[in-house]
Amino acid sequence: MIPPAIHLVFLFILGCFFGSFLNVLIDRLPRGEDVLISRSKCDYCKKILKPFDLIPLLSFLLLWGKCRYCRHRLSRQYPLIEALTGFIFASLYFYTILSGSGNIGYFIFLILIFCQFLVIYITDLKERIIPDEINLTLLLTVAIYRLFLTPEPFLPYLVSGFLFSLFFLILVFMTKGKGMGIGDVKFAFIMGLFLGYPKILIAFYLAFLTGAAVSLILVIAGKKRMKSTIAFGPFLIAATVVSYIWGQELYIRLIHFINLS
Ligand SMILES: [Zn+2]
Repeated sequence: MIPPAIHLVFLFILGCFFGSFLNVLIDRLPRGEDVLISRSKCDYCKKILKPFDLIPLLSFLLLWGKCRYCRHRLSRQYPLIEALTGFIFASLYFYTILSGSGNIGYFIFLILIFCQFLVIYITDLKERIIPDEINLTLLLTVAIYRLFLTPEPFLPYLVSGFLFSLFFLILVFMTKGKGMGIGDVKFAFIMGLFLGYPKILIAFYLAFLTGAAVSLILVIAGKKRMKSTIAFGPFLIAATVVSYIWGQELYIRLIHFINLS
């Protein structure tokens, strides 16, 4: 028997390698560049990077965060995404396989879903774009997950996806696309399909609450004006993850709280 700690370390390292592919997606999808064929280059001197420049985390640490060729400082996004992806792999393994709540297929599909969440989080934060390619692959991944890997019936999840994205579509029309875009409407459908009722309500509540709080802080801190908007995707993603894990409990507490008052 290999001890579980070794499994977790192995999955963290595997996740770091997968994370460097996510970095490629984050950099290239918003610019419409191909993600599979062309080799990785330094953003500054355009030199094609060699395999030993591309070892996740390690290359960045050994080179002190600078390009080997032109010594230009590299973005901290690279090691950050690699480490986060490693963390996603290890923690989902713990959440599903080690805790006995899911099989290997369930584990793999959750990894695929959470990694695509990470890509959307960063592209929306950086470029204010949720790439259509990711929305489409994420939709397929979530649909397969709901159809074949979870025991609950599919229809209620489909309905919550439709209702939630319809609600977003109305919001986009009412605000004339100032607060949210069509990318958010498409993502809302995926959220509903992934979470279902009542977790979708909790996610919705958390996303608007945190979105409003952060906007207010930015306005007070003088970083944003009242009229300017912030990307809403990151709030939707964070709320989806929290609600996926703790949504049921939060919902019960909320109902209990409403009944008391
Ligand atoms: Zn360079």
